[in-house]
Amino acid sequence: MKKHYDVLVVGGGIIGHSVAYSVSKRGMSVLVIEKGEINRKASSAAAGMLAAQAEVTEAGPLFDLARESRNMFSSLSEDLKEQTGNDIDLIEKGMLTIALTEEKVHSLRSTIAFQQAAGEKASWLRGEDLLSVEPNLSKTVLGAMYAPDDGQVSAFKLATSFARAATLLGARILEYTDVTGILIENDRVQGVKTVQGDFFGDHVVVTGGAWTKQILEQTNVDLPIYPVKGECLSVRTNERLITKTIFSDDCYIVPKNEGRLLIGATMIPGTFDEKVSVAGISQLLNKAINLLPSLKDAEWEKAWSGIRPQTGDGLPYIGEHPSVKGLHVASGHYRNGILLSPITGEIIADLIEGNELTSARLAFSLNDKRRREQFSEASY
Ligand SMILES: Cc1cc2nc3c(=O)[nH]c(=O)nc-3n(C[C@H](O)[C@H](O)[C@H](O)COP(=O)(O)OP(=O)(O)OC[C@H]3O[C@@H](n4cnc5c(N)ncnc54)[C@H](O)[C@@H]3O)c2cc1C
Repeated sequence: MKKHYDVLVVGGGIIGHSVAYSVSKRGMSVLVIEKGEINRKASSAAAGMLAAQAEVTEAGPLFDLARESRNMFSSLSEDLKEQTGNDIDLIEKGMLTIALTEEKVHSLRSTIAFQQAAGEKASWLRGEDLLSVEPNLSKTVLGAMYAPDDGQVSAFKLATSFARAATLLGARILEYTDVTGILIENDRVQGVKTVQGDFFGDHVVVTGGAWTKQILEQTNVDLPIYPVKGECLSVRTNERLITKTIFSDDCYIVPKNEGRLLIGATMIPGTFDEKVSVAGISQLLNKAINLLPSLKDAEWEKAWSGIRPQTGDGLPYIGEHPSVKGLHVASGHYRNGILLSPITGEIIADLIEGNELTSARLAFSLNDKRRREQFSEASY
């Protein structure tokens, strides 16, 4: 196997494959190195929501990045289909963020106001209007914010399509290969050490999800990226109970193809343990039945979990290492890695090509002053 590439990508989840796809499209040679099997960690656990408006409730760089990325999905879906023959199951039917209390009604109304001011479509549906759109919702729901442009995909199909498209453009993927170190000389990256020997690259991109902090340990930067476990389950119904994704503070219900409903997700910080707990699943089911009572007649399908990469300030890291040239990080996408995958690949490809980033994109850099202050002095 070839030992030298333009770009080495460490971690074969959706972010690694999006990066591989973007840089391959720009003509660079790429090797993705994955510790286990590709797309088996957070990226296959995800519900696939493209919740730019439902997930991000205040103005700022994350909101702008999220909506820009969401707006890339229509053409991305066509491009990936044309290149790979795979469908990513893009569904563009909008999302409803539910209010069960007066306090939530109030906060959703201010979210609607800021999103409208930012040029997004968002409206308030009162109880009766809401029930005319989704008649199976519980009568206890007071109303909902409707975001017609938020959609959803199959996370696993998107991740595998990125990987397939990248390989069709020439990228290589090496599975079952743990990256154990980063090769650095004179503050410039040279490649990586792996259990199958060293590989060399002009650029190395660390896309290790929740494991990124450990991969970067030897590079003298202690990035605050930590694990947050999420459990999910799916059921099947004969009749279609909802057409839009139902999103609430307690849980979400995502209508997939062929009568599947995906219900998520718990938030358990500080663990890499992927066991699914009875407590987590029963809590989710109770909350979901509270929103959609006829769910109790659904047929059980399965439950699973994944480990999300969260950061200290809630923003992903997408940028070059502060002291090692050619070493890049794209990680910490927390609950929005599927949504943010297309834009992340493009930003990393721009960085590698030496294109100047807009100031909005610099907010995600590892060098941003505000973020740097969060790291311990010693780590810089
Ligand atoms: C239950 C759940 C529901 C979610 N729902 C949504 C959603 O609806 N919408 C959304 O946008 N996001 C959602 N997310 C978040 C999303 O799944 C993540 O943000 C995203 O998958 C992160 O992708 P990643 O590639 O960074 O990480 P991962 O998919 O975890 O990939 C990282 C890869 O790096 C590999 N790796 C680690 N260490 C090494 C090493 N030393 N050497 C080589 N490889 C290594 C790992 O094996 C892994 O394959 C959800 C997450 C969960 C858990």
